[in-house]
Amino acid sequence: AGRPLSGRVTLVTGASSGIGEATAVALAQAGAAVAIGARRADRLTALADRLRADGTCVLTLDLDVTDEAACRDAVARTRAELGGLDVLVNNAGVMLLGTIVGADVEDWRRMLSTNVLGLMYMTHAAIDGMVEQGSGDVVNISSVAGRTARKGAGVYNASKWAVNAFSESLRQEVTTRGVRISLVEPGAVATELTDHITQPDAKAASQRMYTEMTPLQADDVARAILYVVSQPPHVAVNEVLVRPTEQE
Ligand code: NDP
Repeated sequence: AGRPLSGRVTLVTGASSGIGEATAVALAQAGAAVAIGARRADRLTALADRLRADGTCVLTLDLDVTDEAACRDAVARTRAELGGLDVLVNNAGVMLLGTIVGADVEDWRRMLSTNVLGLMYMTHAAIDGMVEQGSGDVVNISSVAGRTARKGAGVYNASKWAVNAFSESLRQEVTTRGVRISLVEPGAVATELTDHITQPDAKAASQRMYTEMTPLQADDVARAILYVVSQPPHVAVNEVLVRPTEQE
């Protein structure tokens, strides 16, 4: 009680590391109940133990967002076991950077199925209930890469462009019914994101970029997300672009 999000139920996808994990911690510290979803169950269990030790009500969800049925089930279990769903943070994502020429198109399928379709499945599963209750937040984690395309990032750019278009269209559809749709667009954040890049040159170039500046920490982005969802009902923070100061 007294904390900004007490009584609210939140669900964070991709909560097993990086921005998602930091966001779950920030939402819990603000008093929310937190459902945490990802594929690595061991990471989620460890996070759940930490949060419960501080008195937070936690639900762990075995969630692969590329599986539509799993997305529906995650939302249904959150409503059933935590008593509702007020805030959905669509954070799960992969960044498999690389040139288009010579790309392994499996990278493209993974990015589009996770960053785009996964976010859409989660949103679709959650949005009806939010419209019915006349309130709710969907926070979609896009990127600077959703606003500025660069060579070597084409399909990641395309995936985040899709997130921005989907979010703005949905915003217009539901905002007069009390549901807020927001975009958070980070620049370089020190997380595990670059570990999964399959093109060796792209991986090295990307990892170098993080060492040539002081990057954001996951918690810096979590604070932006907390700001978005802590506003009074008449205030919709539609978009937040957060870069490391040293990032051009
Ligand atoms: P991490 O790699 O640390 O975290 C990614 C998270 O997504 C993990 O928890 C991972 O969990 C989860 N995930 C990946 N695929 C799936 C899936 N199919 N189903 C469910 N969960 C999945 O990276 P970040 O924290 O950096 O990334 C979070 C978001 O932030 C992404 O959308 C990314 O595009 C965005 N972003 C990151 C930036 C950065 O510089 N780091 C900059 C701009 C945006 P698991 O593997 O256990 O399923």
